[in-house]
Amino acid sequence: MKFQELHLIEPILKALGEEGYEHLTPIQEQSIPEVLKGNDLLGCAQTGTGKTAAFLLPIIQLMDATKNFNKKRSIRGLIVTPTRELAIQIGESFEAYARHLPLKSTVIFGGVGQTPQVNALKSGVDLLVATPGRLLDLMNQRLLSIADVEYFVLDEADRMLDMGFIHDVKRLLAVLPKKRQSLFFSATMPPDIVALANTILHNPSRVTV
Ligand code: AMP
Repeated sequence: MKFQELHLIEPILKALGEEGYEHLTPIQEQSIPEVLKGNDLLGCAQTGTGKTAAFLLPIIQLMDATKNFNKKRSIRGLIVTPTRELAIQIGESFEAYARHLPLKSTVIFGGVGQTPQVNALKSGVDLLVATPGRLLDLMNQRLLSIADVEYFVLDEADRMLDMGFIHDVKRLLAVLPKKRQSLFFSATMPPDIVALANTILHNPSRVTV
């Protein structure tokens, strides 16, 4: 299936053309229509399958459709991912796919000074990509709020648990708005991951590649 056949808005299609994307990958074919419909998603997919675009493209489109409601420019999209490298990659992909739209993003992760990240947040972002530790750290300092999040993605959930982030994820879930659309991706689906997914997702569509 070609991107032109999807009901994506012109600014996104233009950016995808510039990226050289023509055909959807299998995870994208299965996921994008479901997310555009507003469904939660449980995705079993590894990195390299095109999963980043599978969640970012529909979220960008949904965020753009209601952008006028966000005059105060609060964080409406939150992507949580286990490593700094993945966070940076996701942030770069968002910048590329949303480059023809007035949506702003930033990336936060630990191991570096927080000041540039805090300054970026202060200027207002629509979408935040974060690793769990730094996200909670800045939340605890009241330097960012996730109270307005409408789209939540937990990426590489199995790796997140392997890295010991389960308590951080649970703390986040306690604060996230209950009314939200959630997407959950993991390369493997052992019982503890399925249990975690069940606490996050509401009637999810399931996709596996
Ligand atoms: P990911 O699995 O999200 O890490 O994506 C793997 C790589 O595939 C990245 O370099 C993407 O830019 C690229 N990619 C994702 N979707 C497509 C597509 N539909 N056509 C061509 N390249 C893609």
